[in-house]
Amino acid sequence: MSTPEKAENTVGPVVRSEDEWRRELTPEEYHVLRQAGTERPYTGEYWDTHTAGVYQCRACGAELFTSKEKFDSHCGWPSFWAPLAEGTVRYIHDRTLGMERIEVRCSACDSHLGHVFEGEGYGTPTDQRYCINSVSLRLVPAESTEDGQAAVS
Ligand SMILES: [Zn+2]
Repeated sequence: MSTPEKAENTVGPVVRSEDEWRRELTPEEYHVLRQAGTERPYTGEYWDTHTAGVYQCRACGAELFTSKEKFDSHCGWPSFWAPLAEGTVRYIHDRTLGMERIEVRCSACDSHLGHVFEGEGYGTPTDQRYCINSVSLRLVPAESTEDGQAAVS
C-alpha cells in the first residue's frame, strides 16, 4: 500500500506530529489550529458568509458545522449556534487571558477552532455562540455536498 494519505470524510482520530502539521498548513493556519491562536476580527474568510454548505475542519477535513446553524453575530468571526452533530467538536476549559472560556476543538484531529459562549441574548435556538476562526474552517458549498438541497441563502 503506497498512499495512506487521503482521509476523505472519515471522522476518526487524525494523528500527525507537529512537524507534519507545520508542513501541511500555512503559517497562519498552523498558528490558529495548532497553537490556539486567534485571527483578527473581520479579517477572516467566512465571518460574513451566507453561502449554504458544510464547514469542514481545515486541518483534517472532518465536517464540523453547517450554514444552517450559522448566524450573524457581528463579532467579526464566523458564529454558529450549534455544531453539525454531537461529538464533532470537543470542549476544553481555557483559563488563559484571565477569563473562563470554553475552547472548542475538532474532535477528530484535536485542532483549535475557537470558543463557545453562552447566554449572550442572541435569540438563537441555543443561545450559544460558537465563535470560530475562519482559518480553522473550509466551506464546501451545498452544490458539491451530498444533501444538495441549497436551503436558505
Ligand atoms: Zn480536524
